[in-house]
Amino acid sequence: MKFGGTSVGSIESLLNLRDIVNASSKPVLVVVSAMGGFTNQLLAMCEQAQQRDISCLDTLEAARKRHHDAIDGVVVESMRDEVHATIDHFIDDSLKPYYLALATNPHMPVDEIERMCDAIVAHGEILSSAIVAGMFDDGVPHLSLNYMRTVPDGHGRVLDWEETGRLVKEEFAAMADGVHVAQGFISRDKATGDVTNLGRGGSDYTAAILATLLDAEALEIWTDVDGFMTADPRTHPDATVIQQMTYAQAQEMCDAGAKVIYPPTIAPVAMKHIPVWVKNTFNPAATGTVIID
Ligand code: ADP
Ligand code: ASP
Ligand code: MG
Repeated sequence: MKFGGTSVGSIESLLNLRDIVNASSKPVLVVVSAMGGFTNQLLAMCEQAQQRDISCLDTLEAARKRHHDAIDGVVVESMRDEVHATIDHFIDDSLKPYYLALATNPHMPVDEIERMCDAIVAHGEILSSAIVAGMFDDGVPHLSLNYMRTVPDGHGRVLDWEETGRLVKEEFAAMADGVHVAQGFISRDKATGDVTNLGRGGSDYTAAILATLLDAEALEIWTDVDGFMTADPRTHPDATVIQQMTYAQAQEMCDAGAKVIYPPTIAPVAMKHIPVWVKNTFNPAATGTVIID
């Protein structure tokens, strides 16, 4: 089950997430995005820091409060102190030093700036996943940085299926009972170990990769609309939910810009004939869309 930014973005949506996961009679691997808007903020703060504008640290404090408020609203009491401390640790000992380094090193080489910003942007999912794992008494965290591997490809990067497959099998070899929680989007370079990612919107792809490698019974994409629709409901208020579509139809609409699923998501699950459900975290009773052969 992959939960996107809005689905982990508020106390209300996190409580819905908890109910959705708890309602499952099967073992669940939850893949989370950063809290809605936080990835954009992390990147905007990178820009600000490079301009020596340290007001980015004010934004960081607002983000700290947002995460702490969420913890107070949703994390089980026995875990709360630990999760608060985790958030503070990543903000004070990791994000802040990165932003200060960007702001105070005018001659930093471009590739080092890029590496630093990739490390920074990974914190969105790291923080949100700490909260989500802390919502379940039996929450088991699985840090994606330990098993998702990318390699350079032209100007971008692609997943290294072989190495990722090997590491995922190791990580999830003895998948005990409980609710398993992983971060979407984030990865490491296979050769250097630098933090990388699968591209904006890439949490869907992480979930598809894990579903494929672990032979999941289904992939559920939980988002903020009732399903895959005939058009973007934000710009086409008359759009309607498509109840069932083929992988090919979904791929075509994603390639044409339907943002509801990140385009690379479809191919791996299609190859293994894993059904993909698109469901609404804010309206779980709605049937949603199923994507199958
Ligand atoms: P998440 O944070 O859950 O990944 P996204 O914002 O990436 O969510 O994707 C969901 C959004 O995609 C919806 O809010 C909707 O505005 C937009 N969207 C664009 N095209 C479609 C479509 N064909 N069907 C449904 N939603 C669409
Ligand atoms: N948090 C990342 C982004 O905003 C990945 C995702 O949400 O899928 O692009
Ligand atoms: Mg998305």
